[in-house]
Amino acid sequence: MHSSLLVGYYNAQILIDLGEDWLGKTEGLKLDAVLVTHAHPDHAGGLKDCNRCPVFATRETWQALQQFNIVPGNVLSHRKPMDLSGMVGEAFPVEHSTRAPAVGYRITANRVAIFYVPDVVYIHDRTQALSGISMYVGDGSTLTHSMVRKPKKHLIGHTPIRTQLTWCAKEGIGRAIFTHCGEEIVTSDERTLGATLRQMARHRGVEAAIAHDGMEVVLR
Ligand SMILES: [Zn+2]
Ligand SMILES: [Zn+2]
Repeated sequence: MHSSLLVGYYNAQILIDLGEDWLGKTEGLKLDAVLVTHAHPDHAGGLKDCNRCPVFATRETWQALQQFNIVPGNVLSHRKPMDLSGMVGEAFPVEHSTRAPAVGYRITANRVAIFYVPDVVYIHDRTQALSGISMYVGDGSTLTHSMVRKPKKHLIGHTPIRTQLTWCAKEGIGRAIFTHCGEEIVTSDERTLGATLRQMARHRGVEAAIAHDGMEVVLR
């Protein structure tokens, strides 16, 4: 399925991203809010039938979503913490695409914070985004091969897991999960790839895993 993260805290539930794969499949979910990282169909295409709760995205994202006939919802600003039914959400601008400017979300519940960024080349304000978080959930497009391009002024594409693990190490994050997996990961042998990833992570003092549909993590 297209990558999506459900974050729960007591009775509150928020969802980050709702790709096209999820069209018609979220009816049973009780959601307090949906946050969107950017206007690519694998992150926002499922919004076409989601009108049961407030949906938040940046102004640029709503603008870009108009071409997919998605009605604009609530506008959020970069770096402005907002209350989400007892949790706090903050959007950090990241480089990934020029047509669909993206953000990553820092979500805090009580004293536990995570950062979710499924598509990323570069996080602006990385230290503020990642300081003190319990878990980093990042872009699993490639393990080591760079998919970053710079056609004009901006970097676009995906940063390899190896680089993201180095970010985690620099910010003192002990745990990372990689989602939105690309071909390199999806088509390789799980045991070999898992071992390579774990070694690469351990080397940097991080415990890392590849995400899968339905994966659940409890943070205390
Ligand atoms: Zn994207
Ligand atoms: Zn994507």
